[in-house]
Amino acid sequence: MEKTFVLAKPDAVQRGLVGEIVKRLESKGLKLVAAKMIKLEDKILDEHYAHLKDKPFFPATKKFMQTTPAVAMVWEGKEAVEVVRTLCGVTNSRKAAPGTIRGDWGQSIQANLVHASDSLETAEKEIRRFFKKEEIFPYALKKEEFIYSPDERE
Ligand code: ADP
Repeated sequence: MEKTFVLAKPDAVQRGLVGEIVKRLESKGLKLVAAKMIKLEDKILDEHYAHLKDKPFFPATKKFMQTTPAVAMVWEGKEAVEVVRTLCGVTNSRKAAPGTIRGDWGQSIQANLVHASDSLETAEKEIRRFFKKEEIFPYALKKEEFIYSPDERE
């Protein structure tokens, strides 16, 4: 099964929405395989947001990401990368569809509650960046037999 990286951002922590975010992903049938609270240091943010380093909003984004610790997670499931991105909604929370995390709880482009990997390749890199191998826990999720058809679980 595919793994994806998810970060509950400082606004989610401050607003008490980490539980709601976890609940959404759990209720969807995804499996939580790693989780920890982390303070985002300069180095890890420069790597994580390397694609934004020349954008005018980059310094503000970086500052925002350091206001409060964040909660890093790895979630597993069939096509987990795409499924989680769909659950998050588009970057601009004001335009995100109702029913999505950003659409239901956000009003901002910057403070958009959650980060989720945008491709399988990025997910692999991000998981390696934020977690040691021993911090990721493989286990059987018993309910999976009722979440997927047998062929979908292969
Ligand atoms: P996403 O998080 O949806 O994958 P990006 O990778 O483009 O989006 O941007 C990373 C983060 O940078 C966004 O989630 C948001 O917090 C911030 N950001 C992106 N675009 C803007 C913008 N135009 N103004 C302010 N902050 C932005």
